[in-house]
Amino acid sequence: MRLIDVEIGRYDWASFECGCTKSAVHLAGDLRRLAKAQSEEEARALHIENHALIQSIPQQPAEAVASVLMAALAGELSPGARFVCLDLLGALVFNDGELGGEVPGDRPAGVVAAVPGCVDGCLPWHRRQRLLRPEGDRDG
Ligand SMILES: [Zn+2]
Repeated sequence: MRLIDVEIGRYDWASFECGCTKSAVHLAGDLRRLAKAQSEEEARALHIENHALIQSIPQQPAEAVASVLMAALAGELSPGARFVCLDLLGALVFNDGELGGEVPGDRPAGVVAAVPGCVDGCLPWHRRQRLLRPEGDRDG
């Protein structure tokens, strides 16, 4: 099982109101398609930014999306998909938000503050993984 599938499975997507005002359930499939995209155009066509953000303000699924993007970046991605994942992650971390609304369940913390925290929390793991990867397998 790929890390992205594990990470997608950690979230109750139906409990988030998406930036498109519907349930965020569709984002699980959209994020899988993003990870499989073979070009930047294909990855951008999913417009995930319009669901995780509204006018640069993170919406309820933003932290989950950031977490899944970090997982995606740990796996194999086409250069175009990797670029779009990093671009979206940047938009989520360096957002213009105050508070994007409360996260349902037991995490009332602001999504805006949670996204950089989530990415910060993932970075040491990414660094370790990259250190553990074979020399010829490094891509940047
Ligand atoms: Zn949506």
